[in-house]
Amino acid sequence: MHSRPEEGEASPRKLFFADVMLGKLARWLRILGFDTLYGAPADLSEVQVLMSRGRIVLTRTRRWSGVYGVLILEANDPMAQLAEVARRVPLYEDEVRFLSRCVRCNVLIHDVPRSRVFGHVPDYTYETQERFAQCPSCGRFYWAGSHPSRMQEHLQSTLRWKADSLRGPGNGPIR
Ligand SMILES: [Zn+2]
Repeated sequence: MHSRPEEGEASPRKLFFADVMLGKLARWLRILGFDTLYGAPADLSEVQVLMSRGRIVLTRTRRWSGVYGVLILEANDPMAQLAEVARRVPLYEDEVRFLSRCVRCNVLIHDVPRSRVFGHVPDYTYETQERFAQCPSCGRFYWAGSHPSRMQEHLQSTLRWKADSLRGPGNGPIR
C-alpha cells in the first residue's frame, strides 16, 4: 500500500454508501474515519442521487452492475471486503482518521474535557484515561483503551498499513 505524494486532508475526502448487506464493512470504514452512509436504496434513482453527492456506492448485489460509480464487491468477509475496497478504490494510509467518527452516527466526534465525562463512563475508565471525545449526535463517549489496539492489529494485518495510520483523536469503546 502506497501513500499519495500530496499531503493528507483534514478529513478523508472519499465518501461512501454501503448497501444494506454491508453493515460491518460500513462500520470499519467509519472506524477508519470515512464518511459512510448505510442503507437500502429503493431503486437506481436513489443510487444515482447518492453518487451525484459524491458517494462511492458499495454493494454485493449485481443489480446495479455496469453503473458507473457502483463498486460490486467480490469478498464475503467484512475484513476481506475492506481490503478489497482499499485495493480497488483505492484507500491510502494518509487518508485515514482513525476513530475520528462515531461508529453509530457517522458524524465527527469532538474532544471533550475530562471533567465532562465524570459519572458517564465507568470509574476505572475515568481514572485511567486522559483523553475523551464525544459524539455530538448520540452523546456517546469515546476513549482510548484495549479495543482500539486490538482493532489496529486487525486492520494492520488486513490492510498491511503501518501503526502510525491507525492512531487518532478520540479512540473509543467500540462494541
Ligand atoms: Zn453518535
